[in-house]
Amino acid sequence: MDKVELINKLINEGYIRSERVKKALLKVPREEFVPEHLKDYAYIDSPLEIGYGQTISAPHMVALMSELLDIKPGMKVLEIGTGSGYHAAVTAELVGKDGLVVSVERIPELAKKAEERLKKLGYDDVIVVVGDGSLGYKPLAPYDRIYVTAAAPKIPKSLIEQLKDGGKLLVPVGRYMQKLMLVEKKGDEIIVKDCGYVSFVPLIGEEGFR
Ligand code: SAM
Repeated sequence: MDKVELINKLINEGYIRSERVKKALLKVPREEFVPEHLKDYAYIDSPLEIGYGQTISAPHMVALMSELLDIKPGMKVLEIGTGSGYHAAVTAELVGKDGLVVSVERIPELAKKAEERLKKLGYDDVIVVVGDGSLGYKPLAPYDRIYVTAAAPKIPKSLIEQLKDGGKLLVPVGRYMQKLMLVEKKGDEIIVKDCGYVSFVPLIGEEGFR
């Protein structure tokens, strides 16, 4: 399968619903974010190993999360779990040159590789930070959007705190049966919506699994 075939499949399956998400996925070269020996599989709709027991998320999951978050140009977005850097690059396309993507990764080797890749591909507006993203990243808070690409035991409080009023947070919750939860902050009100079952690696950290 090539990139265009994959994008058409994701449109037909309902994962891609907007022109903006379609354009972002068409633009980012996923083959640059997977290990050399897996390049032939870059446009198969599946997660792939990236080393250190971690994976690059499946394209349908990146599309689904991007649509649910409704990321607009100029937004400041926090990603927890940089992994390969692929999803961060898609988000960088969505926020555009006036926006900012901050991505936190707990494994320094993955963070370093992702940062080098993103720089090489011209995504200079992505800031990669090494640390425990279950606590968010306070120095650049608050954020318009926050998403987590690993499953937490419950919705991390720190992430809700670091959302702007009107902001949205997307986080998989659970150990085995995980559900993708969309959290909206409206003044003092926190609205939580269940977006269905998913499968992610665990979020390891203070507000994650220990
Ligand atoms: N978004 C990634 C991509 O596009 O390749 C996929 C991420 S992978 C499914 C999940 C990542 O979350 C792993 O790289 C893992 O090391 C990281 N992770 C797990 N717990 C974390 C934490 N507390 N803080 C930051 N990163 C964490």
